[in-house]
Amino acid sequence: MNDRAVFTKAFTQQEPISEAAIARVSDILRTGRLHRYNTVGDERSEAALLEAEYAAYQGTDYCLAVTSGGQALQIALRAVGVRPGDLVLANAYTLAPVPGAMYATGAVPVFVDVDENWHINLDDLADKAERSGANYLMLSHMRGHIADMDRIVEICEVHGITMIEDCAHTMGATWKGKLSGNFGSVGCFSTQTYKHMNSGEGGLLTTSDPIIAARSVIMSGSYMLYGSHGAAPSEDVFAQVRLDAPNCSARLDNVRAAIIRDQLPNLDRTIAAWNERYVALDTGLRAIDGLRLPVRADFEHYVGSSIQFQVEKASKDQILGLIDACAARGVEIKWFGADQPKGFTSRYDSWQYLGEQPELVGTKSVLSTTCDMRVPLTFSLDDCELIVQIIGEEMAALQD
Ligand SMILES: *Cc1c(COP(=O)(O)O)cnc(C)c1O
Repeated sequence: MNDRAVFTKAFTQQEPISEAAIARVSDILRTGRLHRYNTVGDERSEAALLEAEYAAYQGTDYCLAVTSGGQALQIALRAVGVRPGDLVLANAYTLAPVPGAMYATGAVPVFVDVDENWHINLDDLADKAERSGANYLMLSHMRGHIADMDRIVEICEVHGITMIEDCAHTMGATWKGKLSGNFGSVGCFSTQTYKHMNSGEGGLLTTSDPIIAARSVIMSGSYMLYGSHGAAPSEDVFAQVRLDAPNCSARLDNVRAAIIRDQLPNLDRTIAAWNERYVALDTGLRAIDGLRLPVRADFEHYVGSSIQFQVEKASKDQILGLIDACAARGVEIKWFGADQPKGFTSRYDSWQYLGEQPELVGTKSVLSTTCDMRVPLTFSLDDCELIVQIIGEEMAALQD
């Protein structure tokens, strides 16, 4: 056993913040003006500059910087008009901030199954859209897997459903050439450390709907200072909503904004680096007997910041055995099949504050064999090869 290769790098280690960003942050700290509305003369705050730049990147009319992806989701729900008791269709397979945002707004989730490629199950979506009468869809492109967006947009159109996209794992990803976040009414992004840009915490909301944008800005906590935003609608639009949107205090500060601004010009290069690693892992893992990797559409330009695979024909104990054996050799695999939430992973039936949910057989079945690995950019291609080797050896041992 002892001569077997061990992987020693951390699965949670991100790349450092650039020296340029550190210098910019130091400058901001020296001014003491960390709050986005604390400007001098006609100075534009970092947060406002970030909004203008991200709206340009995303190709939307408006962008709002907020404190987290979860806050972006919550504000988006309220801004599109969700009221307590309203039904919202959502992926059953997503991360806890999504049900958390729905709960905060009083929305009643209608969870939709996941399919075997980790997309929202389109037949289940069509069926529940029809039967539930929900007017909203909160679509998570979970783990970066983008479903058939033509079909989703069509389902939404047929049933008059307003779509919010949770793009926490698809910032910079496209489907048939269109950026994720631009298919629905609102796109929500996270700049939390493990996402595609890293400011510790942070979120971005994009839209081209002026009313949604104005409501969102006010809800983010702009008071009546919305005029200093970087990519917001004009005063006459605010006049319609300014007294009708609650302040949810979710403003992004200038320090985090500066850190994100530094990373944005490199985002597409970062994505290419992620995908190089993803392809190396995907190719290697596909060749291992007993593992199943997702089918992706040719026109899905994903961001491979994490990888999912299924351990086929394995019992719970075998999967746990595999995960333990890999962990003992430094390879950190997460499992979505656990009955209890662990680390960042949880399942729809662990969000008990939402009340009893109907059993989702498809979701439980897919997640029972779903393994998940982060792919930090601090891994080299050789690292990816070693990870594949270790998983391959432990899979072979499992089948003995
Ligand atoms: C991270 C994440 C969020 C929310 O991001 P925070 O910035 O951590 O609030 C939302 N949805 C998904 C799927 C996520 O992974």
